[in-house]
Amino acid sequence: QPTLSGDFGTLMGWADRGRRMTVRTNAETPQDAKVAREFGAEGIGLCRTEHMFFEGDRILAVREMILAETEEGRRAALAKLLPMQRQDFTDLFEIMHGLPVTIRLLDPPLHEFLPKTDEELKDVATAMGADPELLRDRALSLEEFNPMLGHRGCRLLVSYPEIAEMQARAIFEAAVAAAKATGAPVVPEIMVPLVGLKGELDLVRSSIEAMAKAVIEETGAELTYQVGTMVELPRAALKAAEIAESAEFFSFGTNDLTQTTFGISRDDAASFLGTYQTKGILEQDPFVSLDPEGVGELIKIGVERGRSTRPDIKLGICGEHGGDPSSITFCESVDLDYVSCSPYRVPIARLAAAQAALRKASGN
Ligand code: PEP
Ligand code: MG
Repeated sequence: QPTLSGDFGTLMGWADRGRRMTVRTNAETPQDAKVAREFGAEGIGLCRTEHMFFEGDRILAVREMILAETEEGRRAALAKLLPMQRQDFTDLFEIMHGLPVTIRLLDPPLHEFLPKTDEELKDVATAMGADPELLRDRALSLEEFNPMLGHRGCRLLVSYPEIAEMQARAIFEAAVAAAKATGAPVVPEIMVPLVGLKGELDLVRSSIEAMAKAVIEETGAELTYQVGTMVELPRAALKAAEIAESAEFFSFGTNDLTQTTFGISRDDAASFLGTYQTKGILEQDPFVSLDPEGVGELIKIGVERGRSTRPDIKLGICGEHGGDPSSITFCESVDLDYVSCSPYRVPIARLAAAQAALRKASGN
């Protein structure tokens, strides 16, 4: 286990006294959450639940869910995933011991879940008692030309609300269990991905609220929670005033926001962005260091418009930029409440957040 002791720990203590923004981590495994806490993370800013769906034989149930033709079929597959998700979240809540935890509902590019080999297709067909050839057709019909701009994020939750219902139930049941086990209150923050339209958020929010009500009735436990959204599409930033009516928090997803603002695929950029830098068209790779002018302008708009509707809206960033010092300086300049980054970047983020706050206070 890494620890921050000795002189390094002392330095970090000084940094913590100087900073204003809190530093959270992006984590979905107990191991990452533990490492991040050792490094001083003050919460989880992004738990990417789709990563949990690849483990062990879960992917089989996930494929059953995706390939099911009916809601009944999807619900049967989701029922297999519920206990596993409940345990995932209970573990995270217990490790974080009352610190805030933001759990993002499923956001896969759909193609990552589709069976890729004949063997995989056969396994799902056997599990579903279905004809492999019919399933192959169904899988082919779900293939997309541009999966990153396709049926992902909240779009999937709009098509199949039962996915959000299962995840919300798992989150709420885990919150009740973890609060009982640790004695620390758990206030889950449920985050809806890839929202561009307020109606998308409203629809998913209503499933979450209905599930909270059901779990409160069933367990008799008190349950407080927040619902928020990623701001990772230009439209979400522009419509932030309206979207904030339905969101207690925003987290800027600058990986997708950079991709959609530049219109540059985040998975293909490496092949030409180097040339842009050597030819002086771009100073830095915008997927590494936040582009303060284009993407930054959209963040400023999102912050201002979000706060105009809800002055106390909680604002953070959870794209890769959340662990990059120059991007953290930008986050301080627009008064975000927290940055969230991968576990091993937490110490850097703590230092960078302190430097940014001190520089801002001294007017530099
Ligand atoms: C983002 O888009 O910045 C983000 C954090 O989400 P993901 O990287 O999972 O798309
Ligand atoms: Mg994203």
